[in-house]
Amino acid sequence: MTPARRVLVAGAGVAGRGVVAALLADGASVTVTDGNAERLAAFADTGARTALGLTEPPAGTDLVVTSPGWRPDSPLLLAAAAAGVEVIGDVELAWRLARRLPRPPVWLAVTGTNGKTSTVTMLESMLRAAGLNAVACGNVGLPVVDAVRAGHEVLAVELSSFQLHWQSSMRAHASVVLNVAEDHLDWHGGIDDYAAAKGKIHTGAKVVVHNTADEWSGRLAAAHEGTRVGFGLGTPRPGELGVVEDLLVDRAFVDDPASTAEELATLGDVLPGGPHNVANALAAAALARAHGVPPEAVRDGLRAYRPGPHRAAPVAEVDGIRYVNDSKATNPHAAAGSLRAFESVVWIAGGQLKGASVDGLVAEVAGRLRGAVLLGADADVVSASLARHAPDVPVSRVPPGDDGAMTAAVHAARALARPGDVVLLAPAAASLDMYRDYAHRGDAFADAVRGLLTDGGPGT
Ligand code: ADP
Repeated sequence: MTPARRVLVAGAGVAGRGVVAALLADGASVTVTDGNAERLAAFADTGARTALGLTEPPAGTDLVVTSPGWRPDSPLLLAAAAAGVEVIGDVELAWRLARRLPRPPVWLAVTGTNGKTSTVTMLESMLRAAGLNAVACGNVGLPVVDAVRAGHEVLAVELSSFQLHWQSSMRAHASVVLNVAEDHLDWHGGIDDYAAAKGKIHTGAKVVVHNTADEWSGRLAAAHEGTRVGFGLGTPRPGELGVVEDLLVDRAFVDDPASTAEELATLGDVLPGGPHNVANALAAAALARAHGVPPEAVRDGLRAYRPGPHRAAPVAEVDGIRYVNDSKATNPHAAAGSLRAFESVVWIAGGQLKGASVDGLVAEVAGRLRGAVLLGADADVVSASLARHAPDVPVSRVPPGDDGAMTAAVHAARALARPGDVVLLAPAAASLDMYRDYAHRGDAFADAVRGLLTDGGPGT
């Protein structure tokens, strides 16, 4: 980046804060804009100018750094493009700043519809087990700009499709698209554009990792030149990581010339269990191995790893029924991953489907469902799908507008469940119709389940 610039930062969010600090430290003159006065006010102490709700960049602006969630067709960004002002995202800025460091960090980059946070946090754990100064950053929480400025040697970067849309120069050492399923199509306009944004992660990567069970993941990897490495839940072929009996096995990066495979870990080392998480662990292992992490550190990293909250988190067992909070399953593909981990489930679902279809999910998991409890905005859509694809599954509906909706849902689920079953909150939908976010929804579920413990058993 050429120094001494007038930069407009669009979006006064978490990423915006790191961006402003980095730009000011770089000697730029910075203005921040946002449509929300309260959010903007929080930037008053940063040293940047603030301007409420700009619809065009101030005269003389050289560069706009946008928050990843802003739509490309928002008036400000359209006006910037029309005026010939370059628009980039926080990740692009981080990359440009990192290139100017005497020892730029290595980037290991992860995207996909589901499993990103689990994968980068497992990867961080493996890298640290290998003694590296590594950090998970990006969409997972810590802005990439902040991670770059903190001087880490390896970055496990989680990138959303939005962040990828707004970057162009990044060249990761190794990259993966975990899976591609319908999500955020309202923002991107269609699955092709969404997948194309995700595919940008592979540009210039030395090692391109793909999921052998996901068509889009394979297709996007095939379009790039780096060494291709597959991962999947079956027996790995040469050049792949996979599973043999109860072992995670690497047949892509084999250190011992006398051997054709490296044992990495056991299935029991992967927490929480379930096929989708094993897939995430294999993807993380592929990236770690691409950076030279030894097999023992992959294993130690998995053992030290603690899953994030609201991701297939066990809450309690009451009367032989287990209650599991997977509020982070905010789209049908995620909920399918979650449901596949259990044999007999009372499924709590519903919320905002964002235009996605649940038919494939319902048809696939029908045989695992003891019952379903539906709540939230698109409960009708899920209900109609169950009627079509799982007509024998009993369904309970929670009326809308009820403050205690989640408590009612948990009680209804308990009435449908039998000992040995799992009551699983895996909504397949966003939470914003009823909750602040998925964490708020997951907390409501956990509170309701804990309420069962204090209420006592059935009939008391
Ligand atoms: P992301 O960061 O992409 O949102 P997370 O790692 O936070 O992904 O997981 C979100 C949810 O997606 C999990 O709670 C689980 O329901 C589901 N999930 C995780 N990994 C996968 C996967 N590989 N395939 C399908 N679903 C998954």
